Amino acid sequence: MWQTIGQPKALALLERSLQTGELAHAYLIVGAPHIGKMTLASDLAKAVNCQGKESPCGECQSCRRIADGKHADITIISLNSAKGSGETKSRVEISIDDIRELQHSASLPPYEGKCKVFIIDGAEYLSTEAANCLLKTIEEPPPHIMILLLTAEESQLLSTVVSRCQRIELKPISSEETERVLIESHGVDSDRAKLLARLSQGCLGWALRVSIDDSYLAQRNQRLAEMFSILSAGWEERFSCAAKLGNERKSAEETIKLWLVWWRDVMLTKCGCKHTTNIDYISKLEKWAQVLSLLEIRNFIDSLRQSLNQIAVNANLRLIFEILMLNMPKKEGALGNTTLPTPVSQ
Ligand SMILES: [Zn+2]
Repeated sequence: MWQTIGQPKALALLERSLQTGELAHAYLIVGAPHIGKMTLASDLAKAVNCQGKESPCGECQSCRRIADGKHADITIISLNSAKGSGETKSRVEISIDDIRELQHSASLPPYEGKCKVFIIDGAEYLSTEAANCLLKTIEEPPPHIMILLLTAEESQLLSTVVSRCQRIELKPISSEETERVLIESHGVDSDRAKLLARLSQGCLGWALRVSIDDSYLAQRNQRLAEMFSILSAGWEERFSCAAKLGNERKSAEETIKLWLVWWRDVMLTKCGCKHTTNIDYISKLEKWAQVLSLLEIRNFIDSLRQSLNQIAVNANLRLIFEILMLNMPKKEGALGNTTLPTPVSQ
């Protein structure tokens, strides 16, 4: 049974290829972070090694060993894959040495299964040298191997690599489906499931992770509370916030993305549309939608978008936040009350 959920097109393609025995030697699995790329890769690795009747059965020894990460013929290569000495130091690229190791292993027959599967998680991190080296294996693959390239940033891959793989794109799944899986398969209570489904933006893996870890929601509430206080703050306070918020790139980007989703919700509320993401802040969204004009809201959304583009090209973070502080609508005392929503129970 496939563990991949909500990707009927991808599964139909693979099932057809499995039935006709026309699987490709290399697949490029594309999709947003936490959308299910590794789950699909694992499904495919099971399917080509399954000993059951309906592959991937999920129950035979081979399927179970793959699920446990113990199968000798499945190799995952990523920035985090531990090297020989057992040392894990943070790397910035997947190197040519990783690919040479892959090629050596690929030249040997499978050890316990039918097909050796090499999963390259974060294929955008392949160095140019590594990608060119891999190209040779993709063009002339030894028998009994399959290469799965996983990426959220397809545009950063060499076009020669992309063109030689069969491409599978994973799409965001509906919030209704995410909600259903959270409730039915993971026992999450319905209010929390509804909220996580909306916040996940179609990435089931993200929703599942956050469903067992409260820190994300706590941090989100804190970041939103901070934004509410900035809305009614004076200039001096705003600029000292800019210094604090523009401290670290990853956190700056996360904050702006969170704000963008929030302001999109204010815009939707202003236009009378109910499909908002921050469903635990409805009354606050309604208040801000009332206080601000559509133009004010739209201008600030533009400003947030520009900020993300600037972060992507390494612009000065503090300056980015200072400009945001100038552009963020300013309604002193309009909504002094910055209470948090009632926490959603676990
Ligand atoms: Zn099986």
